[in-house]
Amino acid sequence: MAVKENLSEVRSHLPAHVQLVCVSKFHPNESILEAYECGERIFGESKVQELCQKQETLPKDISWHFIGHLQTNKVKYIVPFVDLIHGVDSLKLLAEIDRQAAKVGRQVNCLLQMHIAQEESKFGFNEFELREALSASTDLSHVTLCGLMGMATFTDDRDRIRAEFRGLKQLFDRVKEEFFPHDSRFSILSMGMSDDYLIAIEEGSTMVRIGTILFGRRNYPV
Ligand SMILES: *Cc1c(COP(=O)(O)O)cnc(C)c1O
Repeated sequence: MAVKENLSEVRSHLPAHVQLVCVSKFHPNESILEAYECGERIFGESKVQELCQKQETLPKDISWHFIGHLQTNKVKYIVPFVDLIHGVDSLKLLAEIDRQAAKVGRQVNCLLQMHIAQEESKFGFNEFELREALSASTDLSHVTLCGLMGMATFTDDRDRIRAEFRGLKQLFDRVKEEFFPHDSRFSILSMGMSDDYLIAIEEGSTMVRIGTILFGRRNYPV
C-alpha cells in the first residue's frame, strides 16, 4: 500500500490553515507508522478499545483524536491522553468528559457535533440544542470547547453536500460571535472526509478527517 504517495496527493490539496486528521480506524499499526514516518502526527480513531491499544503501542508524540460516537461509560478510558474529541453530541457526555478530566487533572479539547445530514441515523445537535448546551456548559472547567464538527449526507449530490457544509460554516460563525467572541480556542470547524473534503475546504473547513484515500478500504471485522 502506498500511504506515502496517497499522502502527497492529499497534502497537495490542503491549504496551510487546514489540518489533516489521518483516520486510521481498522488499519494496523504498520499503516499508521508509514504516515508517521512521512511526518503525520494526528490520527483519528472511532472505537475506544482500538484507540487505547494503538495509543499504548505507538509513538508517544502522536496526537490522538476520537472521531466516533462516544458512550459516557467509556469516556474514562480515553480522557487521560486524548487530544481532541470530535463527536460530543450531548450535554451529558460533555459533563462526563469534564468529570473524568478533572479526576486526572487534564483539560480536554472537544468539538460539538452538529446534525447537518438528511439521514436520521447520524448523531449530533440541532441549532436549538446546541445553544442550550452552550448556555448550560459554562461551569464545566475541564473541557475546552474548540469548535464544531459535522458529517454531510452520504450522497452523490454534490450540491446538497456543499449546502450542508455551507450551513455548518454559517452556524459556526454565528456561534463564535455570540458565545466565544474573545476565545481564540474556539476556532476549529471539522468537516470533510475522503469523498467530500475538497468541497468542505471550499466551504470553510479547518480540519479534514481522511481515511480511505490515505490507507485504502477498511476491512471491517465480520
Ligand atoms: C471513518 C470516518 C472518517 C473517514 O472516512 P473516509 O471516508 O474513510 O475518509 C471521517 N470522519 C468520521 C467521523 C469517521 O467515522
